[in-house]
Amino acid sequence: VLFNKYQELKGNIRVMCRVRPVLNPAEGDAAAIAFPDQKTSAQIEVTGSEERTSIGTVSRKVLPFEFDRVFSPAVRNDKVFDEISQLVQSALDGYNVCIFCYGQTGSGKTYTMSSPDGMIPRATHMIYETVTKLREKSWTYTMEGSFVEVYNEELRDLLTPAKEVDPKKKLEIRHDERTKQTTVLNCKSVPLDSPNRVEQMLKQAQNNRSVAATKANERSSRSHSVFILKLVGENSATHERCEGTLNLVDLAGSERLNHSQAEGDRMRETQNINKSLACLGDVIEALGRGSAHIPYRNSKLTHLLQYSLGGNSKTLMFVMVSPMEAHLKETITSLRFATKVH
Ligand code: ADP
Ligand code: MG
Repeated sequence: VLFNKYQELKGNIRVMCRVRPVLNPAEGDAAAIAFPDQKTSAQIEVTGSEERTSIGTVSRKVLPFEFDRVFSPAVRNDKVFDEISQLVQSALDGYNVCIFCYGQTGSGKTYTMSSPDGMIPRATHMIYETVTKLREKSWTYTMEGSFVEVYNEELRDLLTPAKEVDPKKKLEIRHDERTKQTTVLNCKSVPLDSPNRVEQMLKQAQNNRSVAATKANERSSRSHSVFILKLVGENSATHERCEGTLNLVDLAGSERLNHSQAEGDRMRETQNINKSLACLGDVIEALGRGSAHIPYRNSKLTHLLQYSLGGNSKTLMFVMVSPMEAHLKETITSLRFATKVH
């Protein structure tokens, strides 16, 4: 209901906020996020004690932010998925759909998106169920998944083990202007013809990611990962055909990285992350404004997702935040970013 109402008002871009729970007793005392109304709240209040009022540009005690939906720490992945299932289904109707998780490292992006309980397995499982039901109506679907990483403005295939990568075969983005479909040249795509294939694929992507990285966690927080699910349906009775894509994106950590302390490779990494997240914000903001020029080409990520952002496509941004007082400054920065694209 929220979705439809919002769509009329603001087109195809929505923003939802999710606050992760306090993870252990040590964190417990320092929680900084308040929920004025647990049940119906579409507003998050970042409340402050006396000390907190002096953080950054915050001069008042309460900073209200409003989003299409706010998930308090008690809300589990199944409830979060309920809110996005309609959007996921629309990929079967031939829409290009993009769902992002934005937030600082440790805010719950990976938990929400690619954990065994997260949106990727839930979305694919629901799609299987729907596809099975649609067979009765003469629809046959093929489903193919790819998993890529954008690191330092370069694409890497997460379904190919590092030792099998041919350095001469770089991944390249190809757009088909007529069909509005995107392919990544030299990138593996696997048929997802049974639900457990998805778990296999997620594990494989996870392994390939860690093999390539010296510090796996660090690397994963400094790159964007994009799960691309292509859905092609054909109706044997009516000869209708539809092609849709579902992109599920776990973005690099949004924390402001300190330029002065970073050197060499780290410096370049830092600049690339800041640049690509800023570009994503600019693209979504330009789309929201109905601008004639959308700066897709300014980053690899927006270039890759060009046909799934804007036009006839549907976009959802989850802004993920930590409840901790220690993270309040980053939380406010994330909420401001999300407000800008909203
Ligand atoms: P990110 O990917 O943004 O760096 P993670 O998804 O890895 O963050 O989450 C950080 C930690 O918090 C992990 O241990 C994760 O399991 C836990 N976590 C995040 N969100 C939730 C949640 N909604 N419920 C329970 N644990 C969570
Ligand atoms: Mg992560």
